[in-house]
Amino acid sequence: MPDTSLTEAQFRSYYLRDDIAQWRFAIALFAIPNIAFVAVDFQVYGASPTLMAMFAARVFLLVYSAVAWTRLRTVPNAVIADRWMFGWAAAGAAVMLANTIARPLEYFGHYQFEVFALLAFFATVPLPPKKKLIAAILYLLAALPLLVFYKVPTSNLYVSNTAFVLVLTVASGFLIAQRIRRYRFLALEARLRLEREAQTDSLTGISNRRAFMDWARGEMARYERNEVPVTVLMLDIDHFKSVNDRFGHDVGDALLAQFSRRIEGELRAYDQFARLGGEEFVVVLPHCNLADAEATATRLRKAICDTPFSANDSPIVMTVSIGVTRLNTGEKQIDDALKRADAALYAAKDKGRNRVEISP
Ligand code: GH3
Ligand code: MG
Ligand code: MG
Repeated sequence: MPDTSLTEAQFRSYYLRDDIAQWRFAIALFAIPNIAFVAVDFQVYGASPTLMAMFAARVFLLVYSAVAWTRLRTVPNAVIADRWMFGWAAAGAAVMLANTIARPLEYFGHYQFEVFALLAFFATVPLPPKKKLIAAILYLLAALPLLVFYKVPTSNLYVSNTAFVLVLTVASGFLIAQRIRRYRFLALEARLRLEREAQTDSLTGISNRRAFMDWARGEMARYERNEVPVTVLMLDIDHFKSVNDRFGHDVGDALLAQFSRRIEGELRAYDQFARLGGEEFVVVLPHCNLADAEATATRLRKAICDTPFSANDSPIVMTVSIGVTRLNTGEKQIDDALKRADAALYAAKDKGRNRVEISP
């Protein structure tokens, strides 16, 4: 069975396109106040060097935003995307701090916009919550000393209150970000689990017919193109109905699982093994010619009949019949090969079972 745990890298790469769409939205969203505040700056600072400095800072942020917004569209992975976002968040924080420093006393300490910016940052920017927390704490480390020591405060109570609100905003933002992340993580885990279950035969744990046909659709054309020899083995357990009749259906089920383990143990990692239904299985051997496939089929047959299976402590001898064929030149689908292997399998049944037959 494949590993069920979801790694951080998988998580990030699965949501990358979705995240990038959100990030670009966040960049566009933050550009609006950045432009609008030029008018506010003009009212507050008048025509002065401070206005020019703030204007330059805002133009810088706008240009950086435009570049990040464009680049993010084609960014190949989360690491590079994070780099752009960190740069953008740092530039945004720098402009906010510059604005704070430049404010006259009567505006100083009004950190309302920062509360909005921090919450929006935590809620819309899909950096990992811990990275966002670090970014926000770095911002607080600059903003709080400015608030407390930089200018004569309007009142101590006002300053401590504002500081408190800023810290609480960062803490709440972090909790929001963590919660969003957790739900996305669980949703993706559930989705992957369902996808995996839909591809797995629950009794034996190997691929089911659907997974096998999906795999074959993707791989056969590629093998044909690269002239890789491919052989197909069709397996059907002999007289399995009588195993059920003698030992019960539950024992039959357990034997099917044991049968699968035994076949699996004989195959290479890139061989495909699937349960097509009932007690019929298919094996595909890439990079294997017909002579080697016949040898493999014989090995599989012997692995089944040479050692009895066990159920309820009683030994049960089972045998399997196998039909073998190869993918012909020009065959891009597996269907015809499956039919030939099936015909060979029935020939093996006709000739007495527990044997391997090759399709001409
Ligand atoms: P042979 O293939 O040698 O001709 O004989 P057989 O008795 O195996 O015949 P066939 O392949 O036609 O029958 C398949 C039997 O396998 C029928 C059914 O009782 C049993 N079977 C199919 N699926 C399952 C399953 O999931 N669990 C169990 N316990 N038995 C199953
Ligand atoms: Mg059978
Ligand atoms: Mg059968």
